[in-house]
Amino acid sequence: MARFPGVDYLEFDSLLSEQELLVRQTARQFVDDRVLPLMREAYNSATFPKQLIPEMAELGFFGANLEGYGCAGMNNVEYGLIMQELERGDSGVRSFVSVQGALVMYPIHTYGSEEQKERWLPQLQAGRAIGCFGLTEPGFGSNPSGMRTTAEKRGNKWVLNGEKTWITNGSVAEVAVVWARTPEGIRGFLVEAGTPGYSTGDIHGKLSMRASVTSSLHLADCQIPEENQLPCGKGLKAALSCLSQARFGIGWGVLGAAMDCFETARSYSLTRKQFDDKPLAGHQLVQEKLAWMITEITKGQLLAYHVAKLKDAGKVEAAHISMLKRNNVAMALECARLSRDLLGANGIMDEYPIMRHMCNLETVKTYEGTDHIHALVIGEKVTGVAAYR
Ligand SMILES: Cc1cc2nc3c(=O)[nH]c(=O)nc-3n(C[C@H](O)[C@H](O)[C@H](O)COP(=O)(O)OP(=O)(O)OC[C@H]3O[C@@H](n4cnc5c(N)ncnc54)[C@H](O)[C@@H]3O)c2cc1C
Repeated sequence: MARFPGVDYLEFDSLLSEQELLVRQTARQFVDDRVLPLMREAYNSATFPKQLIPEMAELGFFGANLEGYGCAGMNNVEYGLIMQELERGDSGVRSFVSVQGALVMYPIHTYGSEEQKERWLPQLQAGRAIGCFGLTEPGFGSNPSGMRTTAEKRGNKWVLNGEKTWITNGSVAEVAVVWARTPEGIRGFLVEAGTPGYSTGDIHGKLSMRASVTSSLHLADCQIPEENQLPCGKGLKAALSCLSQARFGIGWGVLGAAMDCFETARSYSLTRKQFDDKPLAGHQLVQEKLAWMITEITKGQLLAYHVAKLKDAGKVEAAHISMLKRNNVAMALECARLSRDLLGANGIMDEYPIMRHMCNLETVKTYEGTDHIHALVIGEKVTGVAAYR
């Protein structure tokens, strides 16, 4: 049996099918048995636990909500529940799975040629190949439309020049989905590791998302065959559609981090005693914090569930996913801060997961569209006025 009891204040589980409960149970047990025992050491040594890759592939986690090519074809609730459990383990592990599925397999599945799909999707699904997604540049983070990386057609080759930075899995990837400017607008390209003119370098010194590889990609007259362009994805909107997939997973994933923080603080407050041998849980101000957390987690679960249902019905909009990502990340960060407070001095120790989640969530707040940018997406939806510039 899994050790994590789950967080279910409002009979959320009554919304889930038998199959959805089974998927969550499988992911929950995997995280309890295989992920959590590794994370303290992995985080402290800034190492991604790569021994988990074949096991996650075997469980169908990579590209779980895609159809065909060996993918599990799960619905979006099942996919979201996997993300939730993985991020309960660590945001770095969830990020690995998000990048592989939502940012590499999804664009190949959606915008790739049949040859690209047959070549890459089965390998990526099986974890025999790792992918990365290169959009951000040193000068262009929140505004990728300004990107300077170019792709120029020379004969039957594309020649890429530019630099991408903050790329998850960059140096360990066999294939990079790189977005570059062409005379016909921004397009996606598959750049294989080992191609002359393509190199990577890792970013060190991160105090957040330590159990995740983050790299820069350098493209210097990097020549790739013309058939490595993603033929069906045109313009920045193709890249942004991939981000919507990943942001959806984040909106679920951070629920797991928040649940872990809540459950850690709840159980700690029942055993730690202060003033007249009274458990912390018996003090009103402590209960107020726990009440805030469980209320916000429950609201976050319902938001995630409804957005998943809209996604399954083909009705989800990017602005819906912006609300999910922005709300749930901010909620999870506040849960981490409140939990840290409730553990007092022990809250800063690595024997508890709280500081690790809190530090990770600072990255999650920034990547895949910052809190501000998602506020602007929501603002544009309700006013009709774009206020990005
Ligand atoms: C660990 C990690 C992994 C990552 N992985 C990837 C990856 O795999 N692939 C990839 O392509 N990228 C990746 N990123 C990059 C990430 O997507 C960017 O960091 C993010 O888009 C923000 O860009 P920036 O860091 O340049 O911040 P900036 O865009 O410089 O923003 C800085 C601040 O200014 C605010 N701001 C900017 N513009 C506005 C505005 N118009 N109105 C109000 N506020 C504004 C922002 O909200 C933020 O608070 C990763 C980042 C991290 C930290």
